Amino acid sequence: MLGVMNNAIQIVEVAPRDGLQADPADLSTNQKVELIRRLIAVGHTRIEATSFVNPKAVPKLADAEALMDAVPRPDGVSYSALALNQRGVNRAIEAGVDEVVGVVVASETFSQANQRASIAESIDRWRTISETAQSVGLKTAVTVSAVWGCPYEGRVDANKVLDIVDELAETEPDELALADTIGTAVPNKVAALFEAVAQRAPATILRGHFHNTRNTALANITAALNVGVRTFDSSLGGVGGCPFAPKATGNVATEDVVYLTHEMGFNSGLELQELINASSWLETQLGHPVPSLVAKAGGFPQPR
Ligand code: ZN
Repeated sequence: MLGVMNNAIQIVEVAPRDGLQADPADLSTNQKVELIRRLIAVGHTRIEATSFVNPKAVPKLADAEALMDAVPRPDGVSYSALALNQRGVNRAIEAGVDEVVGVVVASETFSQANQRASIAESIDRWRTISETAQSVGLKTAVTVSAVWGCPYEGRVDANKVLDIVDELAETEPDELALADTIGTAVPNKVAALFEAVAQRAPATILRGHFHNTRNTALANITAALNVGVRTFDSSLGGVGGCPFAPKATGNVATEDVVYLTHEMGFNSGLELQELINASSWLETQLGHPVPSLVAKAGGFPQPR
């Protein structure tokens, strides 16, 4: 897995994409740009900015081109964006993203519902997307989603996930993510699947994407850290699901991940108090509280 300094971890901030697309609030392009500006100010260098999918399918991210036109472009900050077909990757390249992200769902029913394609068709689409992105020198990452549970099929067979990983590894992505899309994973299963995937795709950097739907995200991140995963997605404030909805499905909160990992001796390069401040600002923009606990409690108490 990641061969750099053992205590360095990397956080990919997904609030602008995975977070906002599911939030009840409708932020303007200017508000999104301001969010991204603040994410950079707290130290983020990898930001999942938007999605180049059909605007009718994801109306909240219909401003993908306008957003990419307006975001600051400081050195060392990399923007990723989702693309699910040839048209999407063409738009992403045209808009100047640094990294193209694809998704393959690990369960057939969810794949049909979510992507309107079978798993095999999604893998084929990813091959095209990946070739196009690589041909112009962009980084690529592919997420296998719903690997620990599917809303339609229930438990997902790990061998099926590994078969998908084998095919995706052939496209030589810079990174491969395993996603607990509906927040059903538990630590021992997280560790086991990451270890098995690392054996199948030893040359690929692995990333974890956890939702805190059943309050297991930080436990799952700890388990992944213990088997060598050093790259994680998280969302400022934990946005990514309506906090008032009966089935809230928020992403794990960046400030909660930073508190946990920094207290454990890892370093993400992010500043906790500044993250908490950014999270409070985000609440004012969304017009509702965010689910993060560290945003409420603050960091480790200082002696008084
Ligand atoms: Zn997600």
